[in-house]
Amino acid sequence: MEKSKKVIITEVSPRDGFQSLPQSVPTEMKIDIINRILTCGFKQVEVTSFVHPKAVPQMSDADEVLQAIDRPDGVILRALVPNLQGLERAIAAKVDKAKLMLSATDSHSLNNANAKTMDAMRGFEELAARAESSPIKVSGSISVAFGCPYEGIVPITRHIEICKRYEQLGITDISLADTTGMANPESVKRIVSGLQERFPEFQYSLHLHNTRGMAFANAVAGLAEGIVDFDSSLAGLGGCPYAPNASGNIATEDLVHGFEEMGIQTNLDLDRILNTAKLLQEKFPNESDSFLLKAGKCSDLHKAPTEQIKLG
Ligand code: ZN
Repeated sequence: MEKSKKVIITEVSPRDGFQSLPQSVPTEMKIDIINRILTCGFKQVEVTSFVHPKAVPQMSDADEVLQAIDRPDGVILRALVPNLQGLERAIAAKVDKAKLMLSATDSHSLNNANAKTMDAMRGFEELAARAESSPIKVSGSISVAFGCPYEGIVPITRHIEICKRYEQLGITDISLADTTGMANPESVKRIVSGLQERFPEFQYSLHLHNTRGMAFANAVAGLAEGIVDFDSSLAGLGGCPYAPNASGNIATEDLVHGFEEMGIQTNLDLDRILNTAKLLQEKFPNESDSFLLKAGKCSDLHKAPTEQIKLG
């Protein structure tokens, strides 16, 4: 497949990032950060999650956040929705797109949704039906798609089985998530091309965690397979519950910079992104992980030294 020269990047720090912080972020700060994010040029932002407040207290102010943030024209505000109650809240809050959460493996699903994958999927039937009578769009996801911390590699037959069910529900916008950073460029190629072959009309996106430093290589592998939609998180906010101190999502600034250096357009304002990422890094120094915040852009040239310095 021919590589695209343009990509669409969805910012997920307000959900994936804030959700994995040990402390709750004050609502006012969330609103301020989201409004800054909305000035960077993103066409889609994952702003929150309508999970039960007891399950994820960090997201308990979802309704309030949605009410207060700016709503620039043409920007899709997306939220995670686990069940019908969550969907009703998302509809009431005028969320544009609800993303359903589903794990590829039964053990991860039992851990996250308290149900095996296909049982969780059955719960989506009423959600899909309810969404049809509302303006909200629904997208699907497959967590641990490239490897599960309990079951290891996930066979492509599993992804196909899940996508078949999504298709029956009329959901063809699917996020493939490398939730714990177990993907590599070959597995991305295998799973993406396998699914494209079986469901060519689907729209796929990649949600890549940088737990093992593989996320950018995996994004490039996805791009080579024709993927143009990617998630990322400012300052790399968002951790891994199985590996304390491990990186979360690929940092938005790293992904944007990497693509732009390759001549792939993101239509985003990297300087604004860097300013917002810096702010997040200052506020959450232990939770951020970003190459660009350490090294700066390739285009930040340095004054040539007057004396010879040894480059090792
Ligand atoms: Zn994630």
